[in-house]
Amino acid sequence: MRIKAAVLWERRTPLRVEDVEIADPAPGEARVKILASGVCHSDLHHIRRETAFVPPLVLGHEGAGVVESVGEGVTRVQPGDRVIIAFGQKCGTCYFCLRGEHHLCAAPGPSNVRLRHGDQVLTPLLAVGSFAEYANVDARNLVKIPDEMPIDRAALIACGVTTGLGAVIKTARVEPGSNVAVIGVGGVGLNVVQGAALAGATRVIAIDLVDRKLEMAREFGATHTINPNREDPIEAVRSLTGGWGVDYAFEVIGHPATIRQAYDMTRKGGKAVVVGLADGADEVSIPAQDLMRSGKSLVGCFYGSVSPYQDIPRYVDLYLNRRIKLDELISRRFALDEINEAIRALDAGEVARGVIVFE
Ligand code: NAD
Ligand code: ZN
Repeated sequence: MRIKAAVLWERRTPLRVEDVEIADPAPGEARVKILASGVCHSDLHHIRRETAFVPPLVLGHEGAGVVESVGEGVTRVQPGDRVIIAFGQKCGTCYFCLRGEHHLCAAPGPSNVRLRHGDQVLTPLLAVGSFAEYANVDARNLVKIPDEMPIDRAALIACGVTTGLGAVIKTARVEPGSNVAVIGVGGVGLNVVQGAALAGATRVIAIDLVDRKLEMAREFGATHTINPNREDPIEAVRSLTGGWGVDYAFEVIGHPATIRQAYDMTRKGGKAVVVGLADGADEVSIPAQDLMRSGKSLVGCFYGSVSPYQDIPRYVDLYLNRRIKLDELISRRFALDEINEAIRALDAGEVARGVIVFE
């Protein structure tokens, strides 16, 4: 079938919307008609940085839509089902899946070819590729959603919301009465902020260079805001927490310097959580003696440590019951043809989330 897809032919060049050939769904796969796809900073990293995904690529991994057809052996979903596409592998049988740690699944990625342009094979990012009219995905990655869930807001749950809420609830397990700092309050960080408020944190300190983002963070439950252009974030966090630092600091940017800030603003015995995706060559340096003496933890967080079948329906339910905000997260909607403008707006810090909507 011929579809339109935005292709990254070479890193650091604009995407080009092309006519692309999509295969019929292979055994175990479903073909999803994409109805909405959020634009996440990870997409931008794959344009700019050297990563495991090599162009030509079809980017986009925050997608939702409706199942159009299914391959052999698929029983989880059927044509017509409205779905969120969770990314990553979920083989169900590896060491990690058996422990319920689906986000760490060790199965090899898919090897079947899904997309072609002429004789060029295109790789869908994270085995999704939602900057396209259709995507063939592993049916095990699909989570059905109720009819009343608006599809553009559902798309946000495929990555940013799940990562942000999961970082608080699953990775860090923030308990009521905690003090929390969030460095970087864009599309993912705002969800860390609202997750911390939901978890009953006493202080939720949002840190960002863009004042508009800090205002949004207040709407999402931040109790305090810090702009590092005006004050030292570590000193400011300490002075808000009796000199000790926060119980939990989340880095949601992807830079060694801000990861170190997160560590430094965490109290003794507290937890610094790395959510941001750094460059493949980056390293972080931590004072080794302090690490031992302070008893701090520095932990990574991939995909909010979530178990998609359990957690994604919960996050949908939180939205439908007005316990989390998603409407306010979508700053702008774009057509697929406007993908480069959507990426520019993200890079310029103009949007919390931009969403590509189809039709
Ligand atoms: P975004 O661009 O929407 O937000 C980043 C925010 O950081 C912006 O508001 C920006 O103003 C702010 N910022 C930049 N430099 C700063 C600094 N030095 N100090 C304070 N604030 C600063 O990006 P996003 O979509 O929210 O993604 C955030 C990060 O999370 C990216 O690295 C992305 O790749 C990563 N990510 C990780 C996972 C995961 O599984 N762990 C999932 C999704 C995204
Ligand atoms: Zn993402």
